[in-house]
Amino acid sequence: MGEFMDFNEIVGHDMIIDYLKKAIENGKVSHSYLFEGEESIGKRMVALAFAKALLCKEIGNEPCNRCISCTKFDNANHPDFQLIEPERGLISMKTLDKLLRTVNIAPLESKRKIILIDDSHCMGLGGQNILLKTLEEPPAYINIILLSSNSNMLVPTILSRCQIIKFQPVESSRIIALLRKEYKKTWEEANFIAHFTKGSVGRSIEISRSTEFEVKRKKVIELIDDVVNGGKGNIFTARDFLLDNKDSIEEILDIILYWFRDLAIYKKVGSTELIINMDSISLLSNQSYLSMDRINDIIERIEEARDNILEHVNYQLAIETMLLCMQEV
Ligand SMILES: [Zn+2]
Repeated sequence: MGEFMDFNEIVGHDMIIDYLKKAIENGKVSHSYLFEGEESIGKRMVALAFAKALLCKEIGNEPCNRCISCTKFDNANHPDFQLIEPERGLISMKTLDKLLRTVNIAPLESKRKIILIDDSHCMGLGGQNILLKTLEEPPAYINIILLSSNSNMLVPTILSRCQIIKFQPVESSRIIALLRKEYKKTWEEANFIAHFTKGSVGRSIEISRSTEFEVKRKKVIELIDDVVNGGKGNIFTARDFLLDNKDSIEEILDIILYWFRDLAIYKKVGSTELIINMDSISLLSNQSYLSMDRINDIIERIEEARDNILEHVNYQLAIETMLLCMQEV
């Protein structure tokens, strides 16, 4: 099913949106764009609103949201819009071959035909060469928008034919406002999420919608506290938890990392303004007896554990080493 799409629905990326609106206004829309930036940062939302505006039957630089084209777009059945996404991590040559064959058929309802390729770096070399044929001689009515969080996987000949638009993380104050208004988060919760996701609106919304994340975070903080303050038994509880949650270990290590980062700030600056675990400030302050050297050492070990896990070093060994360092007296 489709969903309502409009520039006004997007949080952040104001400069990019203004730029794209101006391009529509001045009739200077490129045949091919590459929207580049971190995952879930808002590239797809902007691309969809842009595509909808380009297809809209009314005159203007944004979707009218009333015409037949806008309605069809929101219902995800606009015949002149094609969305291509990877399946199991790959955009196949077959998909692109099929696409290429439809490119030369004139648009059915609008003046344009828009092709949006999400995660375009998932095209292999063969697929990229197929796409290149279209990029080299696009029919006048075609606009192609590529999205990528990893554009160095795209061949230079593709990059050179696209107008590249770089997406930056959204300011945390904007995300905090959104989470408070739309997801009824407290300021402390919203502040944590906005920083934890490093300015990714999509990821912030995902976390806000799930109760699972908050439960996990509470549990992790509790385990850290036990390990830091505790006896031998606690390290096994923490280890078992990390063994059971191997699938989300990156997220868990981030939670742990932010915790000790906060602890370092608390000790160094003494103010709580820059701390993102505000809702657990009393637990945090209880651990401030740890020396700065120890905290830095722990932070280093967490990063080491993360690297080791990425490089597929023995998982259990990696987490045990990290936990032991936290506990060491
Ligand atoms: Zn419209």
